[in-house]
Amino acid sequence: MLNLESNLAEIPTIGPRFVQRFAQMGIHTVKDLLYHFPTRYEDFSQIYPINDLEPGQQATIQGTVEDVNVRRTWKRHLTIVEAKITDESGTLRAVWFNQPYIKNVLRPGRLANFSGKVALSDDELYLSHPTYELVDSSDAETRHTARLVPIYPETRGLTSKGIRFVIQPLLNNLRPVAEWLPAEVRRAHGLLEINAALRAVHFPEHIEDSALAKKRFAFEDLFLLHLLNIRQKLKLAREKAPPLTTDIERLKKVLASLPFELTQSQKRSLWEIVQDLARNRPMNRLLQGDVGSGKTVIAALAALVASWNGYQTALMAPTEVLARQHFATLKQLFLRLAPSDQAPLAILTAAGAKALYGDDLETEIKKPKLAAGLRTGDFKIVIGTHALIQKGVDFERLGLVVIDEQHRFGVNQRQALTRGSARIEKPGLPHFLSMSATPIPRTLMLTVFGDLDISTIDELPAGRKKIVTKIVDPQNRLKAYGFIRAHIQKGRQTFVICPRIESADASASDSRQAKLWEVKSVKEEYEKLSRKIFPELRVAMLHGQLKAKEKEAIMKKFRGGETDILVSTSVVEVGVDVPNATIMMIEGAERFGLAQLYQFRGRVGRGEHQSYCFLFTDSAAKQTAERLTAIVTAKNGFELAEMDLELRGPGEFIGDKQTGLPDIAMRGLQNAELIRDSRQAAVEVIQADPNLKNNPALAAKLKSFAAAIHLE
Ligand code: ADP
Ligand code: MG
Repeated sequence: MLNLESNLAEIPTIGPRFVQRFAQMGIHTVKDLLYHFPTRYEDFSQIYPINDLEPGQQATIQGTVEDVNVRRTWKRHLTIVEAKITDESGTLRAVWFNQPYIKNVLRPGRLANFSGKVALSDDELYLSHPTYELVDSSDAETRHTARLVPIYPETRGLTSKGIRFVIQPLLNNLRPVAEWLPAEVRRAHGLLEINAALRAVHFPEHIEDSALAKKRFAFEDLFLLHLLNIRQKLKLAREKAPPLTTDIERLKKVLASLPFELTQSQKRSLWEIVQDLARNRPMNRLLQGDVGSGKTVIAALAALVASWNGYQTALMAPTEVLARQHFATLKQLFLRLAPSDQAPLAILTAAGAKALYGDDLETEIKKPKLAAGLRTGDFKIVIGTHALIQKGVDFERLGLVVIDEQHRFGVNQRQALTRGSARIEKPGLPHFLSMSATPIPRTLMLTVFGDLDISTIDELPAGRKKIVTKIVDPQNRLKAYGFIRAHIQKGRQTFVICPRIESADASASDSRQAKLWEVKSVKEEYEKLSRKIFPELRVAMLHGQLKAKEKEAIMKKFRGGETDILVSTSVVEVGVDVPNATIMMIEGAERFGLAQLYQFRGRVGRGEHQSYCFLFTDSAAKQTAERLTAIVTAKNGFELAEMDLELRGPGEFIGDKQTGLPDIAMRGLQNAELIRDSRQAAVEVIQADPNLKNNPALAAKLKSFAAAIHLE
């Protein structure tokens, strides 16, 4: 008997050609096939007497084949198959083009169902291209007709009919699937048993059954996600970490020497972090806040606390440029402090190493020297790209790991980093803080990022000016250029962000291809702006294919005011701080997510001057205008993130295809109620049975689920 793990080739109704076609859709096992869900259902459930049919109707009839003719039309080289069908009420013709083999199936005298559209020609009704299905007796189970018929995602040579042809007998010949969802969970949330759900999702009696089945499948994935998170959290809670306590008076003194007062939410976040650090188990916290909300200062303070306890901090940024910027920020901060409160600071990137020794001396040092300083504990804070850990740099005592823009590292890498530092700090783990300026919708926070504690900075430092945001249609492009020119002549600078251009053959999943195209669009824009539009201005471009040194040189020039316009890809530099840049111009704005646009805009408005954001779009679609208007009106990034989730789905936040999460789970991530219910169920199960000893089937399922998903 077949089971879920059986290979498709073992299914008697599938020939080798079909095995190959299924493989092209990523379907290799019985399980893959059964989890290939219909996208919709065609309702052929009612069987109509022939005499009751009306033109235009979608209907199923059941009748006996009287005779079948095959004709060829010479003009258009068509083969026409025509069958005459009779039931108790009357007779009807059915017509197919170019399917001569039908004659071999629909033999005179056979009883069959026909589902399709009723057409009218020469005052006579006929069925045009109906789906047909032989039936042995009028109460036999059908799969293509006389019922709710599943319509599947199809591929070349693999139609819904073909898929139904395989799935239906499979459902009958399958060893019952072991249910792993605890009975009390199913009862509490009204979920179908797994075998019933599988049947109902493919061949529902009523449309409500399919909805119930889909609910179960969405629920189960969310439930598993929650379980993973909860167990991850519990596991971490059992780990040891060095308690890093805070001398409050000393911290207050440091705060007093800052050039500004922390905002309320900065204070709250700092307090949450300080409390976590003091515990003897690892902090696992996300600090989220808009670009410019002051996350770096909070991280720097946490690093200081660690150093006062004799522990080291590794601060990782996604790019060289950001690493440099953090280094500069911390340097400025530390130089205001009493020498005894400072911490020896170093930076290590692919481009080289530098150290700051307590005074204003920023020295280039050799990497081995820096590595030695980390091993001896002379350097207390090291900033770098994630090469920092991959290169196996050893620490004397690593107490805190801070990762900026964590979503770009991904959950897996995050875990790898934690494991990596476990090698370094034995026994136990360092505390972990990630920072993100990407507002994540609440539902995703609870699911995909559910193992994290969260601190939110939801206000900007006082005195920031509101950024004037305008949607610019093609007619106003020249006017906008004029505006930009005038501002640059007054000494300001401009960012230009270019979208990814999709090429015909670069599929979205091929990220390397996509990156190439993004670079192409930057180059084109750069050519246009530097030669045609602003030949008198200093224009530079920045993209991911440049070497680290080149990127750094370009950023340095821009920051130093030696470049007027910086044309950049969207992926390169999140969070760069150039106070003199006051215009953010975004090409092809409709191609970006709202939260992403919001983040780009946050790169201006960081200095004393009024700033502007221009969203260029060639799209005249009403929906585009509405979406973009949301940027102008939204109160904060979270509001936009929620909109993105609704409009564009969770792929915007967690990466699309690569997550390994089934489509149904991806849609589940948009369903707040389902998320809440499944979370409650997961909490209850773990409370009753923390190690899932009494739920072995669930434990096994969770294990394979964890192996299959890889959230970006
Ligand atoms: P983020 O990392 O959240 O994007 P940063 O930490 O880089 O933001 O802060 C942006 C700028 O705001 C920095 O120049 C920083 O010194 C400054 N800043 C941070 N907190 C405050 C505050 N409470 N008041 C005024 N300026 C602040
Ligand atoms: Mg930042």
